[in-house]
Amino acid sequence: MTDAIGYDDIARMILSAADKIRANRDELTRLDSAIGDGDHGTSIARAMDIAEKVIQDSEQTKAKGLLKDVGWGVMGADSGATGPLLGSFLMGLSNGIEEQDVIDCNTLAAMFEAGLAGVSRQTKAQVGDKTMMDALLPAVGAIRNAADARRSIKEALRDAAYAAENGAISTKDFTARFGRAKNLGDRVLGFQDPGATSISFMFQGFLEGLP
Ligand code: ADP
Ligand code: MG
Repeated sequence: MTDAIGYDDIARMILSAADKIRANRDELTRLDSAIGDGDHGTSIARAMDIAEKVIQDSEQTKAKGLLKDVGWGVMGADSGATGPLLGSFLMGLSNGIEEQDVIDCNTLAAMFEAGLAGVSRQTKAQVGDKTMMDALLPAVGAIRNAADARRSIKEALRDAAYAAENGAISTKDFTARFGRAKNLGDRVLGFQDPGATSISFMFQGFLEGLP
């Protein structure tokens, strides 16, 4: 068996991420109420609704084109800080692949690295700054490590989900250098960052979306 995925799998991964995030919308709102303005659950759910609609209505036949359309849609979402950051990530995924039908683990790693590069054009946040990057950077690193170790796509996504979850939890120990929480100084200590938590749910969704 070749360990590879294609258009349908990518679509399923994103739809599954959308379901996962929407199922946890209230928790995300609760987290953003503690250290932000309380709109994150609504904002990211709205972005995910758009992603789902783009996929359902899509006439694309390649993952590259689909991801580009999803990225554009999410970028245009009226979704606070989240829309542009998440949209850039999804657009970036598209930049990381060719118009190919088959995506192996190495290509998947390149795809996620390009997604990360897309976000990095929007923000200078790094690990430790209490943002979504605390989950995204380790998750993408985990996929790269898995690909280099010739592990399967499923294993790569499992490692990524685990890394993202730990990254999200680690934000409790940080003060914020970006976003609204930056203004609250030490008062955000002990609270988990909503954006990092969304990314963790997103990678859990990606994993669950694969058969
Ligand atoms: P807003 O801050 O506009 O209300 P959301 O509540 O939807 O947007 O999202 C907040 C999350 O966005 C934060 O928890 C953080 O993870 C992420 N975030 C905000 N600003 C930045 C930034 N400059 N760089 C990286 N991530 C950011
Ligand atoms: Mg907010």
